[in-house]
Amino acid sequence: MTKLLLATRNAKKLVELQRILDEALGVQRVELVGLSDVPEYHEVPESGLTFGENALLKAREGCRNTGLPTVADDSGLAVDALNGMPGVFSARWSGRHGDDQANLDLVLGQIGDVPDEHRGGAFVCAAALVLPGGKEHLVEGRQAGRILRAPRGDGGFGYDPIFLGEGQTRTNAELSPTEKDAISHRGKAFRSLAKVIAKIPLAG
Ligand code: IMP
Repeated sequence: MTKLLLATRNAKKLVELQRILDEALGVQRVELVGLSDVPEYHEVPESGLTFGENALLKAREGCRNTGLPTVADDSGLAVDALNGMPGVFSARWSGRHGDDQANLDLVLGQIGDVPDEHRGGAFVCAAALVLPGGKEHLVEGRQAGRILRAPRGDGGFGYDPIFLGEGQTRTNAELSPTEKDAISHRGKAFRSLAKVIAKIPLAG
């Protein structure tokens, strides 16, 4: 079975992509491994200014270091009233990497005065596939919606409690994981990439 590296240490992402790949490929043609399953290599910081650049950086690095076809993703929240920010800085918007509460509070404060009609935004996810032969594929998934004035819900992570997806009555933090996967930026990007993977020889 072909091995595919997903350049992440996030076990939930591995499970999600494996499930999507299994569905897209019918039979389980691909064995997904994560960064904890391959020999450690030096990981460069995510220095790109777009989700796509960061996803490609991580996928190229994984492929170069392991020789495996490699998928990597980068995602975040793009707020219209903040010109698309926090964007690629979503995980460290408050200055502390991964402090979800501080990041969310800062965004709420920054757009505190913004009226409802201008509170649009989107979760965006870029997913890249880099093959040992040098071929590259890049896809993007988006979930459009708006930013609420106060958090709602205990599920999800990051900015989920303040994000109401288009056509939804519940925030992303009030959806079950399966409900969120079905409409999320990452679910969409991974499903697009699964279609690419289904059509190509991974070794090439
Ligand atoms: P990463 O691409 O998984 O590293 O995500 C970067 C950051 O974007 C996370 O730390 C979150 O702040 C934010 N983010 C990405 N995806 C989501 C999501 O599905 N819900 C809420 N926040 C997210």
